[in-house]
Amino acid sequence: MKTPVIEIKGLRTYFRTPRGVAKAVDGVTLSINRGETFALVGESGCGKSVTALSAIQLVENGAGYIAGGDILLHGQSILTLNEKEKRAIRGNRISMIFQEPMTSLNPVFTIGEQITEVLKLHQGLKSTEAKRVAVEMFAKVKLPNPKELFTEYPHRLSGGMRQRVMIAIALCCKPDLLIADEPTTALDVTIQDEIIGLIQELQAELGSAVLLITHNMALVYQNADHVGVMYGGKIVETAPARFLFRNPLHPYTIKLLRSIPGRTNRGTELETIPGAVPAATSYAPGCRFSGRCDREMEGCEFKEPELKEHDFEQSVACHLFDPGFMASGLAVPKMQTGRKIAAAHDITAPIDKRDELLRVEKLKTYYPVRKGLFRRTVGYVKAVDGIDLEVKRGSTLALVGESGCGKTTAGKSIIRLIQPSGGSLWFNGTEISKLSERGLKRFRSKAQIIFQDPYSSLNPRMIVKNIIGEGIKTLAPELSKKERLDRTVETLERVGLGAETLNRYPHEFSGGQRQRIGIARALAVDPEFIICDEAVSALDVSVQAQILNLLKSIQRDFGISYLFITHDLGVVEYIADEVAVMFNGKIVEYGPTEELFKNPTNDYTKKLLDAIPALPPAKTD
Ligand code: SF4
Repeated sequence: MKTPVIEIKGLRTYFRTPRGVAKAVDGVTLSINRGETFALVGESGCGKSVTALSAIQLVENGAGYIAGGDILLHGQSILTLNEKEKRAIRGNRISMIFQEPMTSLNPVFTIGEQITEVLKLHQGLKSTEAKRVAVEMFAKVKLPNPKELFTEYPHRLSGGMRQRVMIAIALCCKPDLLIADEPTTALDVTIQDEIIGLIQELQAELGSAVLLITHNMALVYQNADHVGVMYGGKIVETAPARFLFRNPLHPYTIKLLRSIPGRTNRGTELETIPGAVPAATSYAPGCRFSGRCDREMEGCEFKEPELKEHDFEQSVACHLFDPGFMASGLAVPKMQTGRKIAAAHDITAPIDKRDELLRVEKLKTYYPVRKGLFRRTVGYVKAVDGIDLEVKRGSTLALVGESGCGKTTAGKSIIRLIQPSGGSLWFNGTEISKLSERGLKRFRSKAQIIFQDPYSSLNPRMIVKNIIGEGIKTLAPELSKKERLDRTVETLERVGLGAETLNRYPHEFSGGQRQRIGIARALAVDPEFIICDEAVSALDVSVQAQILNLLKSIQRDFGISYLFITHDLGVVEYIADEVAVMFNGKIVEYGPTEELFKNPTNDYTKKLLDAIPALPPAKTD
């Protein structure tokens, strides 16, 4: 078996920063054979360039250090070399082309002086011989009039020409390894092709191994033999280029490939990866892509996936490809954020065609009746007695009935403010009763409640900023103070209140404004589902209309689903897509609003409908 030119084994390159140790490269392993190109891809900040700088031994300064692993050049560790030996390798056996040649070419020396200096230092050539080789290299990289250009300064050359000079300098000593860090990013598209073609041509001639660092997937597709996809300082997938493009496995790789604009996705919206690469100073204990991954499972957040061989030469670090993990109880799909879900589902489809968000099966909430000295249980009040409900995405289900029928208890049981006595509840495909404490916390951010009396549900001693910020802090702790405040202001504006209300107390507002604060508090944690428990019953009709309009527009914008608990059938007719009529703890009639209002079948429903006061037709002039 041939020895690879370069082997990077479990490399860890860290930086000391004021915010703690940044694990820029955190266990990277790769190897490149003679004449081969290995591409490292990924978003900015994922550790590609630091891997390259570590390979050429350019990270160890005041802040950066190699914390572990090894780098072997033709089987020999280069980490144990002294500074003089390292200098002899740098620019000679390992050389590098940077994105912006102007930063690595010295502006006060001619390009001829710069290349001959390298030839004299590493090859021991005399001036005349160095000049001859330099001009030959300039010709090889297709610089026009190489002899005349020899005495030119870098600033007098175009970007493309400067990059050719860099390539000439990098390859003049026939390096074993050439590192090309975003070699074409700063160039025009027409020049990009030529530069890459040139690198390939010279690689074929010299047999150098190439480590190509880029975020340009098209470049990788056309030029690399092997690819490593980096994320959060690690390689999360690695495969021969032809496998990777045909069969990407890691959710991050799939997203990266789908985000490339091209002929195949013309006219369609490009995929985006929500959020940002996590800070290298504060990686979560589990998968570093968790929080951005649309296939995330409950266990991903706290169990780190290992890079394991999946198929011949293709390795992936994702629990989806780990049979042991998938067979464990940790492989429960994780809930996603409301806005993402709203965007992913058609909430304008007819109600019977929309996806289910919440399903309640045989929900029971019984209260024990205790009597006697020893408070013995002698029976139960069956407040909720085996009800079934289904709320579709972006829709409103009204739960109606008179006071004491059990509708508020049902709402509180669904949102787990009361522990139900039996039945099951599915939210977003996940059974809530099977969730861990952590999962329940996430469910609570996705399912919110707005109460009838905003005054009693808002803490009178807290200002608006804290009332709204408190929920965000608990349910979205990853947000900074500034992000929390931004989200608070944004939400207040969404409900028609401005930033000037931030420092005011609840008693300084009217009933309608207080209900807006209640809605803002629920909305701020990005919910998918809101229970409105008699949310407009205490308001004047004019204010009630404003709040109902607000709730409808929020539903339209964010795809939020409502369970609207009310006794007011006028409100139901206006806002609900479906209605469930509750009587004595049970659902007695259930159906689409229009149908149920037109043809009620249950006597109790008929009685409720008959009780709606009839109004004369509104005047039009
Ligand atoms: Fe997504 Fe989980 Fe795989 Fe990470 S381990 S990429 S979060 S599915």
